[in-house]
Amino acid sequence: MSEERTPVGGVAVATGHFINNERISSPTTFEDRSPLDWSLKLADVSRGTSHEADLALAAATEAFPDWAKIGVHERGKYLRRLADLIDDNVERIATVECLDMAMLEESLRLRVIARGARNFRAYADLAEHYEPRRWASNGTHNTVLRMPAGPTVVITPWNAPFMLSTWKSAPALAAGNTVVLKPAEWSPLSCSLLMDLVLEAEFPPGVFNLVQGFGEEVGAALVADSRVRRISFTGSPETGRRIGSIAARNLVPFTGELGGKGPFVVYADADLDLAVEKAALMYDDGGQVCLAGTRLIVEESIREKFLDRFATASELHVLGDSRDATTTVSPLIHPAHLARVEGFVDRSIASGDTLIFGGERTTPDGLWYEPTLIEPKSNDAEIVQNEVFGPVLTFQTFADEAEAIALANSTAYGLSAMVFTTDEKKADRFGLGVRAGTVWVNCYLVRDLTAPFGGIGISGIGREGGDYALDFYSDLKTYQLKEETTHG
Ligand code: NAD
Repeated sequence: MSEERTPVGGVAVATGHFINNERISSPTTFEDRSPLDWSLKLADVSRGTSHEADLALAAATEAFPDWAKIGVHERGKYLRRLADLIDDNVERIATVECLDMAMLEESLRLRVIARGARNFRAYADLAEHYEPRRWASNGTHNTVLRMPAGPTVVITPWNAPFMLSTWKSAPALAAGNTVVLKPAEWSPLSCSLLMDLVLEAEFPPGVFNLVQGFGEEVGAALVADSRVRRISFTGSPETGRRIGSIAARNLVPFTGELGGKGPFVVYADADLDLAVEKAALMYDDGGQVCLAGTRLIVEESIREKFLDRFATASELHVLGDSRDATTTVSPLIHPAHLARVEGFVDRSIASGDTLIFGGERTTPDGLWYEPTLIEPKSNDAEIVQNEVFGPVLTFQTFADEAEAIALANSTAYGLSAMVFTTDEKKADRFGLGVRAGTVWVNCYLVRDLTAPFGGIGISGIGREGGDYALDFYSDLKTYQLKEETTHG
């Protein structure tokens, strides 16, 4: 065992893996840098291989039978203890995640990290309150039982790593599965802090493990292992396809929460102040939000009015250090991601799309990119059809409801959609017609943890949230008892 730690914003963060409640370091490491200042190396983090994947899955496999057996109430005690510890450590986790990933520190402190605690509490409650479906038919009493499925691999992306890792691990653990979590290599540190809390909450060894490293290395070794009974992935459609094909080969149930290219539709009768205020939020956190409505689709008759107000609202954005409360637009996560975003915009302009505003990085060495709005030459433009995952929106107009819905549904994605109108019937027609896992009417990012969450098309496969997640992490069993069976 080795317990290597490095100070990050005054917090001592372990840089190794966490397996069987012990810290283990790899002989090789990778550098983790801060998007707030790329010259700042935060840590040398253990670079896991198939060796650490094997150790972690061996631990999860050994711990599984006892964790499954103790039942939902006992498991709930661990989950609630962990939730309380997250609440006690919000400041530390927010400090580290802000430096590591550059999400706005205030929203990390006030909402995002606390959501991690809510995830564990919500699933402790939901698992305990499961009412098995029971009915009589064919002379038998039927009951649907949820059986813990087994060791579960959870793989998360670099944006909102702490929240997403807890959102996926909490239902798996509540359902009685053991977990091996692999966070993204661009923001690995906040999940390491989570493991300190797992230890403090006195989880049994092997129940909740963490391995660090690259997707193609330790990630690929984890998903290919025959001991794995569930794979839960959040990330890009490309990686989702790759992992999904391995899951299919091993016949392992898999959920993929993948990319988004949400339509943000504004009808002429909308509360324009509200619509503009929400649209301007799409630049927050540098636009690195899968659920964002990145395609503004506005009724032709309010084109100029909307554009004027939206440009004014966008000018109010403050690009800066994510630790400052006044900052609204954080830098992009990594120079390679900045280059990707720049590439999208440069190709768009070169192909004849119209740049309405933005289109530049703001400093030669920083990772900030201006809030950008582009009017595409056609709906087939790459900038409309592909996820940019940066502060880059497109602007299109529509003549009538049919065209609004057709444009909304014109990409291969289907994660989220937003519509602004004061006409409830129009909203309903849009809501029924749009192809998206979540539709927000006159609002954005409102979430109920019991609701199903997921994507259609290349935005995903399967559903998280509420009982949908607990069903996924369980083997559902039909139990049939002949009516005349006597009590022994
Ligand atoms: P990514 O697909 O590059 O990586 C995601 C994770 O997969 C990382 O941990 C990575 O190491 C791992 N990985 C990569 N190759 C792997 C392999 N062969 N085997 C196993 N693991 C592998 O995605 P990203 O760039 O980290 O994240 C951005 C993407 O995530 C965007 O498309 C965004 O929309 C999406 N996202 C979706 C949601 C959602 O809920 N639908 C939420 C957040 C982000």
